[in-house]
Amino acid sequence: MTDDLPEIGIGTYENNDPVVCEESVETALNLGYRHVDTAEGYENEDAVGEGIAAADVDREDVLVATKVSPDHLTYDAAVEHARESRERLRLDVVDLLYVHWPIRTYAAEDTLAAFEDLRDDGVIRRIGLSNFRVDQLDEALEVLDSTPFAHQVECHPLLQQDELRAHAREHGYTLVAYSPLAKGEVSEIPEVVEVAEKHDATPAQVSLAWLTGKENVVAIPKSESEAHIRENLEARDLELDDEDEAKIDAIDREKRYVDFEEAPWN
Ligand code: NAP
Repeated sequence: MTDDLPEIGIGTYENNDPVVCEESVETALNLGYRHVDTAEGYENEDAVGEGIAAADVDREDVLVATKVSPDHLTYDAAVEHARESRERLRLDVVDLLYVHWPIRTYAAEDTLAAFEDLRDDGVIRRIGLSNFRVDQLDEALEVLDSTPFAHQVECHPLLQQDELRAHAREHGYTLVAYSPLAKGEVSEIPEVVEVAEKHDATPAQVSLAWLTGKENVVAIPKSESEAHIRENLEARDLELDDEDEAKIDAIDREKRYVDFEEAPWN
């Protein structure tokens, strides 16, 4: 696997049809993606595994990430569920395993001990966290024997996550931006559309270029369509200038697309 996370990975949430899911993962890898994101909760790990197996790519060059659901974060359940994910994905080792949400059965000492043992036993390579607040990140950093590899959170022009990005920079882990296209609604943000028109690019590409232009940030747009999968990867070639970045940085409206009562920030 790669040591750093590639700038653009493929997300798979709600990619629920097994045939479509397998094909989109295979297509993404064949087009040049090297980071695939899933979760046991997405119920598509089998199809994701099939897509990885079918792609014309060396397994060692791909970083495969999955997540343990909030109901399975006791020590024993986390160990069992991580092993099951590895099997469904048809992998020898899961490159990156996240705590999906620090809620319900999550308890820092217990849960993170399971993740460390999974790593030491070779079931996973790296430990990731997702949907943590800063105080929860600080607690995890204290409990873990090494810095987590990544923190995955919602991040896009309407939820810029300054505090979490600063925390990632300060402690030297990667922030993985989920819903980086604001679920497809970036095309309705006038500032993003303006920058896109200036560069003859699409709003999705501008959002991805703006995110990946930030220190320690990578993005995992989800798409089932070959045209979008290709378009999103081509965002790597788009260079925004200081004026473009400042225009998007200055957006002060906020919209969160992934939210529910138990979420840590509520
Ligand atoms: P997203 O990537 O922001 O948006 C996906 C939507 O945008 C889909 O409807 C997709 O439709 C559309 N789209 C993709 N490329 C496009 C393009 N170039 N132009 C216009 N529309 C485009 O939202 P997301 O799926 O919520 O987030 C991405 C990934 O992050 C997920 O798939 C998942 O892997 C991860 N995630 C993690 C968490 C967590 O709790 N850790 C939560 C949410 C998401 P088509 O498929 O038709 O292209």
